[in-house]
Amino acid sequence: MWKNTIKTLGLSSRLYRHQKKQLEISKRFLNLLEYQGKDILDKSGVAVQKFVVVDDASQILSKVSNFQVKEYVIKAQVHAGGRGKGHFDTGFKGGVHVLKDGKKVPDIVAAMLGNKLITKQTPAGGVPVNSVMIAESVDIFEEKYLCFLLDRSSSGPICIASPAGGVDIEQVAESNPEKIKTVSIDVVEGLTLSSAVDIARFLEFDPKSVDQAASEIKKLYDVFMKNDVTQLEINPFANTNRGVLCVDAKVQIDDNANFRQKAIFDDESTAESDPREVEAAKYNLNYIQMNGNIGCLVNGAGLAMATMDIIKLYGGEPANFLDVGGGVQENQVTEAFRIISSDPSVKAILVNVFGGIVNCATIASGVIAAVKNTGLTVPLVVRLEGTNVQNAKKMLAESGLKILSAEDLDDAARKAVRCLSVPPP
Ligand code: GDP
Ligand code: MG
Repeated sequence: MWKNTIKTLGLSSRLYRHQKKQLEISKRFLNLLEYQGKDILDKSGVAVQKFVVVDDASQILSKVSNFQVKEYVIKAQVHAGGRGKGHFDTGFKGGVHVLKDGKKVPDIVAAMLGNKLITKQTPAGGVPVNSVMIAESVDIFEEKYLCFLLDRSSSGPICIASPAGGVDIEQVAESNPEKIKTVSIDVVEGLTLSSAVDIARFLEFDPKSVDQAASEIKKLYDVFMKNDVTQLEINPFANTNRGVLCVDAKVQIDDNANFRQKAIFDDESTAESDPREVEAAKYNLNYIQMNGNIGCLVNGAGLAMATMDIIKLYGGEPANFLDVGGGVQENQVTEAFRIISSDPSVKAILVNVFGGIVNCATIASGVIAAVKNTGLTVPLVVRLEGTNVQNAKKMLAESGLKILSAEDLDDAARKAVRCLSVPPP
């Protein structure tokens, strides 16, 4: 019993860490809005409610005129859950509304669009609502939880299921761990019908709905596999007056698969992302905004971590994490500089590159071009090491530009932090 409890809690905290990490390193996964996820489900034959999406409050009534039921559910489209219990920065309550009177739909949509929705999963200030889903409402009898994930420890997909849906799964894990089941799936064999039936039974579907639920679960697993999904969370997976339905959908796609999932990635909504992250992604640069004032241009995530750590050790705070990667070209270095220096909180820049695959001379000429083109006004410290470093240092020294050269990581961090107390050149 205890072993089981610990195992269940362990898995659920893994799910939590997985989600938290995805929020922190949003670059790694593409988060879809509910309607984008449901579009994929719908096209794959998974049962979802009929819906339309609007980004302005006019002509809504004509769009929903072919709905077969006359009760509507209106849902703000943001990259965060907990919308039902959320509220807007205007004081308007609820990111999910169910109503019978169609004439009131435009008013609710108007109260959502353009305002910020605050939920347990958003930053404190909320996130802007740029689109709203209007769907045919269903009568929900029971809300279940279903999620497919890629699991590191079993090196494959897992299904997490709970009959206690509609609420945070972390809460269920704490209060009723026996209500969570985790099933490892063999990637070669796939999800068998008998496993799908077992999951449906564990979800406590009534006997006459079990077959339909199992069939939906199998289809969801296929969606997970075919679309390079890293997380497919349906909460609630519901028993309704219209059968077993995915009432909500949270879908995340692996960024590494963008070459294979072009249609999905072309539809990417970046309205909530930091504009500098979006800009950096265009040039294949990894950029993460942080709160300090030293801009860091590095190659490789490990070196980025070390650079940030040592800046902190000397009393500074990194303003960002910009990783130019291994095969960087001169123009990417220029773009990286443009992005870093467009941040008004950046008061000094530290370039820390280890030339393994990268030729230091490429970085040096990129830095020189960038300083000339951007008319950089903040102090710049450059530490280069590795391939062709002597040549690179010579180029920097002969450029006539005010660039502080550093001998090693320690020296670089110390110089960057010291620059902050000295007026810019
Ligand atoms: P979330 O709060 O962001 O997770 O949004 P959901 O889409 O999960 O909706 C929140 C809750 O609203 C659900 O758990 C349901 O209880 C309720 N809800 C959502 N859609 C419908 C619907 O079509 N009909 C009814 N009656 N309730 C709904
Ligand atoms: Mg939900």
